[in-house]
Amino acid sequence: MKIGIEIHQRLLANKLFCGCSSELAEDQPHDFIIRRQLRPVLSELGEMDEASRHEFESRKQFEYLVYKRNDCLVELDEEPPHSMNAEALKIALQIAFHLNAKPLDEIHVMRKIVIDGSNTCGFQRTAIIALDGWIETSKGKVGIQTVAIEEESAGIVNADNGKVVYRLDRLGIPLVEIATAPEIKDGQHLLEVAEKIGMILRATGKVARGLGTIRQDVNVSIEGGARVEIKGAQDLRMLPKLAELEISRQQQLLAILEELKSRGRPHVKREFVDVTHIFGATESKLLKTGINSGQSVFAINLPNHAGLLGREIGPNRRYGTELSDYAKSAGVKGIIHSDESMEKYGIKPAEIQELRTTLNMQPSDAFVLVVAEPAKAKKALQKVYERASMDFVPKETRKANADATTSFMRPLPGKARLYPETDVPPIRLTKEFLLAVEKEKGRSLEEKRENLLSMLNKEMAEQILKSKNLKLFEELAADFPSIEPTLIANTLENTLTALRREGLELKDGEAVLRNIFKEYSAGKFVKAAIPEILALIAKGEKTASAIKKFERIGGESLEKIVRECDYNAKTVMVKYRLHVDPKELESVIAKVKK
Ligand SMILES: [Zn+2]
Repeated sequence: MKIGIEIHQRLLANKLFCGCSSELAEDQPHDFIIRRQLRPVLSELGEMDEASRHEFESRKQFEYLVYKRNDCLVELDEEPPHSMNAEALKIALQIAFHLNAKPLDEIHVMRKIVIDGSNTCGFQRTAIIALDGWIETSKGKVGIQTVAIEEESAGIVNADNGKVVYRLDRLGIPLVEIATAPEIKDGQHLLEVAEKIGMILRATGKVARGLGTIRQDVNVSIEGGARVEIKGAQDLRMLPKLAELEISRQQQLLAILEELKSRGRPHVKREFVDVTHIFGATESKLLKTGINSGQSVFAINLPNHAGLLGREIGPNRRYGTELSDYAKSAGVKGIIHSDESMEKYGIKPAEIQELRTTLNMQPSDAFVLVVAEPAKAKKALQKVYERASMDFVPKETRKANADATTSFMRPLPGKARLYPETDVPPIRLTKEFLLAVEKEKGRSLEEKRENLLSMLNKEMAEQILKSKNLKLFEELAADFPSIEPTLIANTLENTLTALRREGLELKDGEAVLRNIFKEYSAGKFVKAAIPEILALIAKGEKTASAIKKFERIGGESLEKIVRECDYNAKTVMVKYRLHVDPKELESVIAKVKK
């Protein structure tokens, strides 16, 4: 068994080959729309990429939403790329250093064919910048094979009826792509590796944060199986189950292949039979609706497949689901196969009998039906035929489903997919340049952990290390050495979270926090008042007036209160907890009593 992971992380820098803003347009309206249709061509080596051919066969129309603030002629593919954004390259190299990878002395930008329309030019620009790194894990070192810098694709808005809509604000944002060696031992280890790389990336403080800014692709293969790349795992916690289910899926597929072999595997015939006439008077709602709207029913005989289509290969997934995924890639909604309950579809035994006769079926054979326009139905059955004819587990790109199972997306792209980008000259990385970049790489994750442990207890140090507030904490702790680091950490991690739970969000939070800690270190209010002040500000109150409401009471005013409260610290605190510092109160009581 082999498991590897590829991590894509957006960098905090302008776009890679034009310098447009990488700040997404979010819910701002687009300025105009461009419509395109892509066609695949042979690579410079004269080969047609399998993934491209597959995508072309589904003949999609593409629509691009263009945002003037985020896009220029480069995103529209009407102008060649500019030279690579030096800032993005520096950040990616610093990440490579943190992963112990060795930078190349020359960077060659390549084109990776991407024909799902998510790149207007039909390829993604990518360049390997470093090789042969490693990270330490609880199960030994895991190799980092490559560190690359590349462009983000356009963001998908929706896809239906052969038309896909993308937004171009995302296209061209710089990404670092980190690929581990296939040395990950199991699902839990996969999670550990992904988390560790994520922490190393965030610790640089130079990567984008938030939803969608980091993506993981998992590669899994087992002995006798095939390399399968799984895209779109939404949640890191899903990774162990994802890897385990993929391993088990491949094992089940191998068992099905064994079973077919033992049955004496006859060739599947490439015969797609129009069986619409059998269902002329059908009570099956699905078939009737299709036929009434001018569609046809087509069928294929899968010899010796009886019982195998219903064989489970994962939770709620059967071998028939695999065939169905392939059929769906030709644009149909799904298939009906002979291991399913025909009652469910309202298909009568007599209809099945006639179908079996028409297809010349033996009792050990299985059938697959589709209902669609004839051309589409035949294309779907062609996909089913191709999948059922394989005497191996296919190399595939699959997408992660919410339950950690996966569905077929497209064949795994071949090597013909990569070729040189002739519009961007190679970039020399001189020793001097690399030394300067390494110098600025900042503290490593381990050094940061040490630093945090010198200020915080172990639990809080680990929490901050994983937190999105890491950079802000480090800055505040350095700027306000007189404030206990634990107070800063607690405010960032606990107070703000508690406010958020009440639906209160600080606007311009960093600036507000800086201001609050500045005033606190000047003695304007006491520790206990911080959550109250922040809550007021989050509700819209000005910082100065919020602070005024919780002004610290000290000196003569406090002495007066102490006398009124009969020198009882408890009584004072009950009344003035948010205004009085307990330590000061103690010394005032001692002084006044004398
Ligand atoms: Zn641009």
